[in-house]
Amino acid sequence: MYTRTQTRPVSVGHIIIGGQNRVIIQSMTSTKTKNIDATVDQILSLERAGCELIRVACLDVEDAKAITAIKSRIHIPISADIHFDYRIALAAIAAGADKIRINPGNLGEEDKLKQVVDACKEKKIPMRIGINGGSLERDLETLYGHDSALGIYESAKRNIELVEKMGFYDLVLSLKSSNVLTTIQAYQLAAEAFPYPLHIGITEAGTLLTSAIRSSAGLGVLLSQGIGDTMRISISDEPVKEIQVSKELLRSFNLYSQMATLISCPTCGRIQYDMIPIAKAIEDYLTTINIPLSVAVMGCIVNGPSEAKNADIGIAGGNHEVILFKKGSFIRKIKEDEVLSELKKEIDKFVEEYHR
Ligand code: SF4
Repeated sequence: MYTRTQTRPVSVGHIIIGGQNRVIIQSMTSTKTKNIDATVDQILSLERAGCELIRVACLDVEDAKAITAIKSRIHIPISADIHFDYRIALAAIAAGADKIRINPGNLGEEDKLKQVVDACKEKKIPMRIGINGGSLERDLETLYGHDSALGIYESAKRNIELVEKMGFYDLVLSLKSSNVLTTIQAYQLAAEAFPYPLHIGITEAGTLLTSAIRSSAGLGVLLSQGIGDTMRISISDEPVKEIQVSKELLRSFNLYSQMATLISCPTCGRIQYDMIPIAKAIEDYLTTINIPLSVAVMGCIVNGPSEAKNADIGIAGGNHEVILFKKGSFIRKIKEDEVLSELKKEIDKFVEEYHR
């Protein structure tokens, strides 16, 4: 099996996908790509959250051409998502796309695909072959059934062979389904057969809660088996949420450290202060802090102090007050109405010291 340290690395702008332990976090804009200002704004907020590669939809040549202006105002590589029309792919490549996502079999005659492959070769950019279980070739559907792992795998194989015979190997593969088990099986088949880096994700995964659960269930299995070189968590919500979930999932597998983490208890009848709004506000506050920092917000003195001491900064609740710990040491007591502002000050101080 090709695990993420054994896949064939490809360069996408200044980042590398494959052949390493680092899993690249990516997202996709929800703006119209030709609306350059809105697209740039969204990408910059994704960058701040920790997005490392952004994909934009190119529905026509105008979208593709907008890549030049967008790229000049952002700091992460940009991938162009194209379906069916090779001329849009050529325009996106000419406009400076660092990667394209396309399905070779959808472009029509081979000569059209050859032009796209030649343009990728010339610009030294990779191609993602993105198979989606919901839109398999008709003969594969007939043979293997709708949205089947084998059908997705065979479709990938067919598309890969089309470009390999043109001498092109700078590939990234995705084999997505909206069904978690199908997705796991399709990626496992791909990891056994192909040396190419895998972009993992569950497609049409739903809104925040549903997607976070389904994506973590599916991608968690794959990540634990060493499968997956880059990931996108699809969420029907603000794209920035995709980054938060991606980081948290990777951190759970020790694959991401440059992030702040909140540890909090669920509260119970022992609680004597209004903890949950504080935990939520701190969680929000931590989303743009890209350093390894753990903050524990705990309810009471039964289980609170040990977790709070284990974190970089921690509080354990008392009666309308909390005890503050830093790096395991008791610092002081804080009154309930000052907890949030004092905790934010402590976090800012920690960040400042980290960068010093
Ligand atoms: Fe309950 Fe205290 Fe545990 Fe929180 S830390 S769940 S308040 S026992």
